[in-house]
Amino acid sequence: MDKEFSNILPEETKQILRDTFKDLKDNVLIEVFIKEDDQFSAFTSELLKGIAALTDKIDAKFYKAGSDTAKKRGIKRFPTILISPDKYKISLIGAPLGEEGRTLIMAILLASTSGTILSVSALKKLSELKEPRRIQVFVSPTCPYCPQQALNSISAAIARPDLITAEVIEMYENRDYMDKYHIVTVPFTVINDVPIGTGLKPAEIFVEELFSVSSAEKIFAPKEGEKIDVDIVIIGGGPAGLTAGIYAGRSGLKTVIIEKTAAGGQVLVTPVVENYPGFTQIAGRTLVDIMYQQALQYSHIFEGEDVVSIKKSSGTFEIKTNRRIYTTKGIIIATGAEHRKLDASGEKHLAGRGVSYCATCDGYFYKDGKRVVVIGGGNTAVTDTLYLHSIGAKVSLVHRRDRLRAEQFLQKSLEDNKIPVLWNYVVKEIIGKNEVHGVRLQNVKDNSIKVLEVDAVFVAIGYVPNNELAKMLNLALDDEGYIKADNKQRTSMPLVYAAGDVTGGIKQIATAVGQGAIAAVTAFEDISSPYWKKE
Ligand code: NAP
Repeated sequence: MDKEFSNILPEETKQILRDTFKDLKDNVLIEVFIKEDDQFSAFTSELLKGIAALTDKIDAKFYKAGSDTAKKRGIKRFPTILISPDKYKISLIGAPLGEEGRTLIMAILLASTSGTILSVSALKKLSELKEPRRIQVFVSPTCPYCPQQALNSISAAIARPDLITAEVIEMYENRDYMDKYHIVTVPFTVINDVPIGTGLKPAEIFVEELFSVSSAEKIFAPKEGEKIDVDIVIIGGGPAGLTAGIYAGRSGLKTVIIEKTAAGGQVLVTPVVENYPGFTQIAGRTLVDIMYQQALQYSHIFEGEDVVSIKKSSGTFEIKTNRRIYTTKGIIIATGAEHRKLDASGEKHLAGRGVSYCATCDGYFYKDGKRVVVIGGGNTAVTDTLYLHSIGAKVSLVHRRDRLRAEQFLQKSLEDNKIPVLWNYVVKEIIGKNEVHGVRLQNVKDNSIKVLEVDAVFVAIGYVPNNELAKMLNLALDDEGYIKADNKQRTSMPLVYAAGDVTGGIKQIATAVGQGAIAAVTAFEDISSPYWKKE
């Protein structure tokens, strides 16, 4: 079995890891617990041997199920990797495949440097924790959000080794948890056996959840909070918002960026970004980290903060969020776009329980012959369909017309792989109580009904702009609801600007950052010299 995985790391990867490991500080002990005749254990053992061979700072030790050390450490699942068990309570349960490999390498780096990815304010709050917390983060190899949430928990375990245990659990190899917590979407976090919910959380909220052991929605009820007076508030922390933050701060404006969830926008969950100038290829997460760190030098970034209302009075805007009140001279709206919903019966209720808008995140649950449908006819729908087919799901594509709008080469791949397409069907209902059992489709030509038994529905029908704030301000919108902005990113209201996907257009990172920069520079010019007061 070992032979099967020999030379598991390609030379190129080894070189990247050697470079990465130059940053290691203290030696890291890694204990690997494996069982006989288990391919995941064999893979893990070979991977860790390969990694340890690259540096003398990593000491990997291997123990079999039933060994004294396995008993002493209370290991019940195999493979399990303990990182610096002499100092921290950090375990990775399951083979570190795909995205989980990233978590493993980062965990080693953090343990070696006593580092964390948590913000200063989150760490300050964490230092006040008084009771033990066992954090379990459930992940899958294809989930791009997962490493960040896993690293939140690992960081917390490093910051508070006295109280915090972090377990990163590979979902697919530990299916009993799926049943226990009804997990069909990851990352999924459980604290002290209480399911907290899905998704990647900003550090501040993640830490709040450790205190309250309940989900963030219950923590931050809208209330009159701290008051902050600034020159410009940027709403949205994707590439457009972060770039606007850099340019506004640099030009001397007192700037804050408010982000509803975690900064990064769609890029955060894009596994690989191709041809963003300067990088032939870069992981979306890495690109976000670079932009975020740069933006932090020029502006405050408040994550996990949702705008509740915006009012304008005597030349000042008052922005109320679920946590604070801001008064500001100008606003840049960079709220992006989100997945369009089907508006079919059952869709909302079953979201996260078999209805998914992210095939790379959740598709893995349906590999090995599970029946799924993808809805849509564009590039995303066809790419998702091909991906699901490639991992072994039994997938059909459902489209409302008799022609796809996806590119020809993608259409050809569908045909080559003999993937069934149901033409001229719309979704009337997603069937299921706590999980998806099927879809009810209606033929648009003859109104006939077809019911398909499926375990999951992947919706890929394009995007809609996040324009609620624009509506609050009565800004002019185009026919599709995107904010109308001129070539200086000015909207129909003085001192309100819009940048990025919320303005429509070609939705590229490069254009979003360009618009963010223009919006900030224009805001600076307008605040110093109001154009609407000129004749
Ligand atoms: P899209 O191109 O806007 O396609 C949306 C699809 O969903 C269309 O086929 C549309 O049908 C269908 N649709 C819309 N509303 C619907 C509804 N209510 N019910 C059923 N079907 C509905 O969206 P996308 O595929 O997400 O792509 C977005 C952008 O990203 C595009 O510019 C795309 O080229 C780009 N992209 C590129 C790649 C790549 O590899 N090059 C991959 C992914 C995305 P109709 O055709 O009937 O309008």
